[in-house]
Amino acid sequence: MKNSAESLWESCLLFIKDNISEQSYKTWFLPIKPIKLNGKVLNIQVPSKFFYEWIEEHYIKLLKSAISKELGENAKLVYSIVMENTYDNHTPYTVKIPSSNRPPIKNPNLSIPIEIAANGLKNPFIIPGLKKVNINSQLNPNYSFENFIEGDCNRLARSAGYAVGNNPGGTSFNPLLIYGGVGLGKTHLSHAIGIEIKDKHPDKTVLYVSAEKFTQQFIDSIRNNTRNDFVHFYQMIDVLVIDDVQFFAGKEKTQDVFFHIFNHLHQQGKQLVLTSDRAPVDLQGMEQRLLSRFKWGLSADLQIPNLQTRISILKKKLYSDGIEMQKEVIEYLAYSITTNIRELEGALISILAQSSLNKRDINLSLAKEMIDRFVKNTKREVSIDFIQKVVCDYFDLSLELLNSTTRKRRIVQARQLAMFFSKKLTKSSLANIGNQCGGKDHATVLHACKTVNNLVDTDKQFRSYVDEISKKLELQQL
Ligand code: ADP
Ligand code: MG
Repeated sequence: MKNSAESLWESCLLFIKDNISEQSYKTWFLPIKPIKLNGKVLNIQVPSKFFYEWIEEHYIKLLKSAISKELGENAKLVYSIVMENTYDNHTPYTVKIPSSNRPPIKNPNLSIPIEIAANGLKNPFIIPGLKKVNINSQLNPNYSFENFIEGDCNRLARSAGYAVGNNPGGTSFNPLLIYGGVGLGKTHLSHAIGIEIKDKHPDKTVLYVSAEKFTQQFIDSIRNNTRNDFVHFYQMIDVLVIDDVQFFAGKEKTQDVFFHIFNHLHQQGKQLVLTSDRAPVDLQGMEQRLLSRFKWGLSADLQIPNLQTRISILKKKLYSDGIEMQKEVIEYLAYSITTNIRELEGALISILAQSSLNKRDINLSLAKEMIDRFVKNTKREVSIDFIQKVVCDYFDLSLELLNSTTRKRRIVQARQLAMFFSKKLTKSSLANIGNQCGGKDHATVLHACKTVNNLVDTDKQFRSYVDEISKKLELQQL
């Protein structure tokens, strides 16, 4: 027969499963074992400290809702963590840690209940009894400039953002519109601007809000007859950051109220920062008068980062989490996941979770296994990045050296081979290949291809390079 902890946990799991992705559910919740239910205290066992920290940081709200749904408001959660016994290798022991009751500040998208401010103004963010300066900016401290790696993919947006951070409302970047595909850092960068402003101009009122939440608050204000309060509230902000403005598409009333708030703030020299998942020209369902306002300032896009930047991002993440990982594993991850940064981080986290769960070392074979699961069935396209990596490995060169201006024979040959294979195996133009190979022009690439073709016919040694690299490229592509 099932004990009460087990059946309670089963109900919790049903609820949890409905609220998160399949992948997260399997990774984080299936490995949990219910141990004991003591009155309103549920004790669950998690496989490692890493699991415990991860769950506390990312899923505690969900877990709390699930448990209080079953046990009522004052339900409590205690973790048992399986610890590796480092002295002898007998049975692992467990430690008990109560769930912290810290407010989950890290997630900027948590909704804040509507409160009534001291001055009687109903507004969605203010904390009762506190003045304007104490508005909670809803900024995530992890999304700082310091944690935002610079690369060719984000240079303009980042430096414009930094300028705005130093001098909000005082640059020509008003509004600053940051756009780009999912997972490329729009939310991160918009928080970074807010954090920078809070840091350098503590007197300014900064507010980050997603367009979705803004819309919801607006609808609520209509329902509660507090539209004026809503507008007033937003009009007293010094720096307004609205994330994912594409959400306003097709919502005329929301666009209308936003238009008025926008004009008011802009006239007063207040700063607006907006993000969108597409360029302004592609924002269908958005009123012309709003679109033309967006063009008053600067629109800057975020692109997919190149291999070097992806490696730097992974390194930075590992460093700030205090985790060490072999260079080859990091590189493997960075050149396998080319879609966006969120997926890159997702892959990294899965590897950490797997290694923690199964007490396995993080090495290339674990990484390969995980990546195969991740990027399954999508045959990896050979990219210029990938070709450069294979060539560098083959000649035991660093990527910097390959793409430098060095004229040393061995390096020149490696560089020419990378260009030759890029032309042969990708659809990139000569100009693009040159650009990615250290900013060379199309004529250099053309010359490289000709040289390689000549040398293959005349130089036996060189021919073997070409054959071996071809094999490696094919092999690793599988
Ligand atoms: P978007 O809002 O464009 O969908 P996010 O801002 O949520 O993307 O970024 C996705 C993830 O990638 C976040 O965890 C973020 O910290 C990380 N990230 C994005 N760009 C960078 C960067 N340049 N350096 C470091 N981390 C980044
Ligand atoms: Mg975002």
